[in-house]
Amino acid sequence: MSLSRAWNAYDAYLFDIDGTLLHAKDAVHYFSFCHVLTNVAGRPVDILGLPVQGKIDPGILRDAFAREGVAEEVWRPQLPQLLDDMAAHVEVNAGDFRIEVLPGVRETLEHRRGRGALLGLGTGNLERIGWAKLKACGLRELFDFGGFSNGYEHRGEMIAAAAAQARSLSGPDAAVLVVGDTPGDIAAAHFAGLEVMAVATGIFAAEELQGADLVVGNLAELRP
Ligand SMILES: [Mg+2]
Repeated sequence: MSLSRAWNAYDAYLFDIDGTLLHAKDAVHYFSFCHVLTNVAGRPVDILGLPVQGKIDPGILRDAFAREGVAEEVWRPQLPQLLDDMAAHVEVNAGDFRIEVLPGVRETLEHRRGRGALLGLGTGNLERIGWAKLKACGLRELFDFGGFSNGYEHRGEMIAAAAAQARSLSGPDAAVLVVGDTPGDIAAAHFAGLEVMAVATGIFAAEELQGADLVVGNLAELRP
């Protein structure tokens, strides 16, 4: 597959966060899951071993509750509060973030932004958690808007909503490119009828991302 135009000729971009823009080398986000899972279950619960790459936060919670045998009728009515509690836990512990911005990220964002492109997020993070990470590493001000996982359990629906947000800001015919690091990002983009560029900066090698319309080792390889 290939992109329908040059990577830097899209009107709007939807960037995944973890593994695409940055690596959080801490467990701040991880502990926010454990915090709310433990509170609901009444015993220590973690998310070790659960697939989280390319997943979205409410879906990870749902899978964790299922693994623990916590009934849906117990946790689902509390979900809005649980998501708030997760976000608050991250914000309180934001001083513990150890975030590495990935190669070429800042330059790529500044390049597209400087030429009038709309920059957005298309991330499985909850809104307050995603912004907290970007603030912690100085990328927040480069983004115009964000599509987050609040209200979604399916990544494709989340990305479709983020693209709708991009088009409401940039125009109904705006060309939108998704940028992500997992097969989940690729599947979600294609579910939403969007093109996708994959970066092999997460846990997946370029060979595992061949379903994307363009695969690069990292964003520093892109030449404006
Ligand atoms: Mg990712």
